[in-house]
Amino acid sequence: MKLEERLGANKYYVDETCPHIIIDGESVSREEAMKLVNGCPAGLYTLQEDGKLAFDFAGCLECGTCRVLCGHSVVKTWKYPRNAKGVEFRQG
Ligand code: SF4
Repeated sequence: MKLEERLGANKYYVDETCPHIIIDGESVSREEAMKLVNGCPAGLYTLQEDGKLAFDFAGCLECGTCRVLCGHSVVKTWKYPRNAKGVEFRQG
């Protein structure tokens, strides 16, 4: 089974009113941005043509990798989603 198929099998209960991860993608060095682009197992970080870092918390696996890779330099807030929200793993 491909990674995309495994990720697609998960259920995501996205809390649109309260993002559990907030980043500052405006003034990120390319080096820091690429850590997140390459490090997020769900591929939620993308480097835009204008050099800004884009992020969508929907689809987050709650692994904490982004928090470890960049600390507070990019990731301004990291917490688990509120009760009954977030990822529900279907493939172990
Ligand atoms: S916690 Fe993991 S899956 Fe979620 S955004 Fe960070 S690196 Fe990606």
